[in-house]
Amino acid sequence: MNSIILKGRAKINLTLDVVGKRENGYHDLEMIMQTVNLYDTIYIRKTKVSGIRLKANYSWLPTNEKNIAYRAAQLFFEEAGIDGGIAIEITKRIPVAAGLAGGSTDAAATLIGLNRLYETNYSREKLMEMGLKLGADVPFCIARGTMLAEGIGEELTPLTPMPHTHVVLVKPPISVSTAVVYKNLDLNCIKKHPETKTVIEALEEGNVQKIADHMSNVLEEVTIAMHPEIEKLKQDFMKQGAMGAMMSGSGSTVFGLFNTREAASRAAKYFKMHHNIREVYVTTTYSPILKNREDKRQRRGLRRRGAKRC
Ligand code: ATP
Repeated sequence: MNSIILKGRAKINLTLDVVGKRENGYHDLEMIMQTVNLYDTIYIRKTKVSGIRLKANYSWLPTNEKNIAYRAAQLFFEEAGIDGGIAIEITKRIPVAAGLAGGSTDAAATLIGLNRLYETNYSREKLMEMGLKLGADVPFCIARGTMLAEGIGEELTPLTPMPHTHVVLVKPPISVSTAVVYKNLDLNCIKKHPETKTVIEALEEGNVQKIADHMSNVLEEVTIAMHPEIEKLKQDFMKQGAMGAMMSGSGSTVFGLFNTREAASRAAKYFKMHHNIREVYVTTTYSPILKNREDKRQRRGLRRRGAKRC
């Protein structure tokens, strides 16, 4: 195999709680993360000359060590002891610095892609271990699906997959620094901690409305104090018929959950027209488990209809 193409999917938070702060400044988190179908494309090709070359569809995105996908490739070659030569092309669709783990997912896809391209057969756990050296969200982006993330985000427990749900993502033209949000968070002043257990229960029941009713993110208070328009977006999501709406990660993306594709598309149109926001996306939740089941069902259907296996 000489080249590979991968999807690096974004995530949203269904809950985000900060439960402590370590001496080294890292925060202890408890959050429910959910993969969505909005993705960057990562194309990796082996080259004759050794070294890493990277390009992206945005000229302002770093193409050197400052790009987390570049660092992922460096780390992979170091670990594997390979003097590799590759060209990486990233087509970004996930908004940048938006609370959607856009960079982390590109790093995750790069590790998965290189593992296949160089047939190193690293286990998923090994790749997640490597990913953690690059960022706390990278292990989740390798695992994907619906997970409870604890520690700094790296202790992952798989949860019952969220039922297929329509999601609208709205990224207002505001840049939010994750570091500044955490710096401004006073642990003693958190008014309301998320009911994480209730959301886990709702997932087990497959009750999307209950999930939507109990979604909560302690970072909203900090980010909304800096950018009140985020609260307005949340309110407008509800007026547009969302089952629930919340800010993802440290922001600035706000997402809404919808019953139907039509309702999601209508809301997306509203945000584009009335808020004049360019970065609006209609997507769905993604689960590797549900996808596998769906793929199996389709294959069985094809076989029954007498299709050839290839
Ligand atoms: P998280 O939810 O994990 O905090 P985020 O969505 O807030 O992630 P990113 O999109 O990962 O943030 O971008 C954060 C910073 O990382 C940006 O300033 C960007 O320049 C830099 N960066 C480095 N590599 C990438 C990449 N491949 N894609 C996006 N941003 C990258």
